Amino acid sequence: MVAEKGMLIVVSAPSGTGKGAIIKKLLIEDKNITHSVSATTREPRKGEKDGVSYFFMNKSDFKKMITKGALIEWDEYCGNYYGTPKKYIDDVTAAGGDVILDITVAGAVNIKKECPEAVMIFVLPPSIKELERRIKDRGTDSTADISSRLEFAYSEFNNIGDYEYAVVNDNLDTAVEEVKAIIAAERMKYKRNPLILDNLYKGDLK
Ligand code: 5GP
Repeated sequence: MVAEKGMLIVVSAPSGTGKGAIIKKLLIEDKNITHSVSATTREPRKGEKDGVSYFFMNKSDFKKMITKGALIEWDEYCGNYYGTPKKYIDDVTAAGGDVILDITVAGAVNIKKECPEAVMIFVLPPSIKELERRIKDRGTDSTADISSRLEFAYSEFNNIGDYEYAVVNDNLDTAVEEVKAIIAAERMKYKRNPLILDNLYKGDLK
């Protein structure tokens, strides 16, 4: 069942936890969910496309977006700015679509303040050793970047209490099934469907 208004599904995880892979699979398997494309000041990595992976921009344009109120949240991560454009989220959720956000913990906490009904999911690596291996093996970041991403990862674990759900990404398929179960249950919450009786029975209820 799809709720009347779309949900915001916030997924955070330390870099290298594999949340990108979870989100990619989820988007293929659930067509009611789309991914919000963030704005960022970081340089594109090989293979990343502007407008698809991110909206890549310089700091001055990013600051203009903040001033115009065009971002629902933003954060600074490893020396770059990242932010979620508001309009896309408003349009899609008003039409009943769900939007998934892959954002930092600080950004997620700000979203929850702004949209208390957002679903908050924290993805955990199966072990610290595996987290370190995944970050190093990714090969897309410089050595300095790898160590700051690791430092940041350790600090982000402290915020898990701000999330409603914790999913361990040991096996990708299992983690995706768990996220799908969370989303299915959230869609059935009565508070997301306050008009369910009217919609189902169209006035036939005696
Ligand atoms: P990456 O540089 O690896 O693509 O992303 C670095 C971090 O920025 C990741 O933890 C990712 O979740 C986060 N991030 C991406 N987009 C946004 C955004 O719009 N807002 C916030 N707060 N974090 C973001």
